[in-house]
Amino acid sequence: FKTDLRWAPSLWRDTFVELLDDELAHGDDWFLNFNYTLTDKISQEEKKRGLKVFQSHTHGKFQCQRCRRFWSSAHVSVLFHYRLRKKRGIVVMRPFGQACLDCKGRFTLPFFSKEDVEKVLLKLFSKIRKNCYGEHDEDDEPPPSERVVFTKPHVSELCEACQQGTCSQRDDP
Ligand SMILES: [Zn+2]
Ligand SMILES: [Zn+2]
Repeated sequence: FKTDLRWAPSLWRDTFVELLDDELAHGDDWFLNFNYTLTDKISQEEKKRGLKVFQSHTHGKFQCQRCRRFWSSAHVSVLFHYRLRKKRGIVVMRPFGQACLDCKGRFTLPFFSKEDVEKVLLKLFSKIRKNCYGEHDEDDEPPPSERVVFTKPHVSELCEACQQGTCSQRDDP
């Protein structure tokens, strides 16, 4: 590897903007922000004001800040809050980190390929079309072939989402 595989919020923001025109063609403005302490719990009051939660997972890569070790994971959790109000849509995202198997140090944030970013955002936009615009959601049940198959056991102690009790792996059979 020549370059550091760092968490790149700009990749998410740029891809979000690129996909908007085709995916959310309702004439509203949508924005993507980041909050690294977001949880999957929202208050009754927030719910009433239309806030929604979407959690997904995708493939990502990590580099330990201490020993520089690289690893990849088929199960990187990403969490979104979203809301449409007065023609203005806000999405807030949190990527969950993982800790190095050797150092067991602090959590490091994931690096994603453009392709993985697109896949997750397409799922998110599908949820938004369903929950904010009342469109039919074709992605509710992914075909079995698209389900992630875990070749390695998921190490909960190294997964930030597991530590927060929001890891989507827990919902998998
Ligand atoms: Zn390390
Ligand atoms: Zn986990």
